[in-house]
Amino acid sequence: MLRVRLHGRGGQGIKTASQILGSAAFLAGHQAQDFPLYGAERRGAPIVAFARIDDAPILERGPIAIPDLLLIGDDTLLEDPQVAPACGADEWTTIFINTEQEALKLKDRLSLPGLPVVCSLGPLTRKHLGDPRILSVSLAAAGGRLSGRVSLDHLNEAIDIELGALGLDRQTLKKNQDLAAEVFAALSPAVFEERQEKPLVAGQLKVLEQQEVAQAAPLITATGNMQERKTGNWRVQHPVIDYGECNNCLICYARCPEGVIAADAEGKPVIDYDHCKGCLICAQECPRHAIRTLWERESHEQR
Ligand code: SF4
Ligand code: SF4
Repeated sequence: MLRVRLHGRGGQGIKTASQILGSAAFLAGHQAQDFPLYGAERRGAPIVAFARIDDAPILERGPIAIPDLLLIGDDTLLEDPQVAPACGADEWTTIFINTEQEALKLKDRLSLPGLPVVCSLGPLTRKHLGDPRILSVSLAAAGGRLSGRVSLDHLNEAIDIELGALGLDRQTLKKNQDLAAEVFAALSPAVFEERQEKPLVAGQLKVLEQQEVAQAAPLITATGNMQERKTGNWRVQHPVIDYGECNNCLICYARCPEGVIAADAEGKPVIDYDHCKGCLICAQECPRHAIRTLWERESHEQR
């Protein structure tokens, strides 16, 4: 079985990438399974999706802890300890990273178990779709090509089915298929050696007690517990207030949809970066243009 795990951010089409990959594998005559895993979150939040491809019926379910093929669509997630996209990768894992960074440097810096396959999908995606952030087709094409399990024809058919179901017109489907062809041509199938798996030993079956709905459902029973959900790692860019320009009007405080801008004792706005999600509405709303935006990987000292 080929176990594939995909990482990216909400809005990049990671779930759709897994669907296209799963459908292409199915059309190629394999058994396939694909599904995403995310909560009630939004654009920018880390997202993970999975696909399993095999020639025998797939009886395994649930998230993939040890992937054979790892597709990392957004390199800003690499050093986020809350996401740890390379977690579970071992010497049998083929790691693909959508990045402009060098493979050897990434391997050394992140202690990856092997040299990753790197390719910058952004320029190709921009060329065909006009927006480098839409990864559904380019990441699916990278996964399909590296997997060696699907042809370009199968991938194109899967694009027609999956993106056609979303209502894309013929011209846009063709642009996506041209993008898939270019990604396919840029990569080569990886070699997947037989993983030396430890046999699974069934544990003792545990019978769970039936609980009352109010007890079993994920109810929020205490106020103020959202503080514990640190959403700062959803950001790809962050706002920085230039206090030389700021006149303390606090419009940013009023407009921040997350309520993470507070006024300090002198009335100056202060951003709580543990919870700021990086929507950058504050920067747009500031009448003094006193809020700059920086990419997350730029120096945190500039905040
Ligand atoms: S909106 Fe701009 S000027 Fe007003 S308090 Fe916020 S940063 Fe300062
Ligand atoms: S970017 Fe600005 S408006 Fe958006 S969550 Fe952060 S502080 Fe609030």
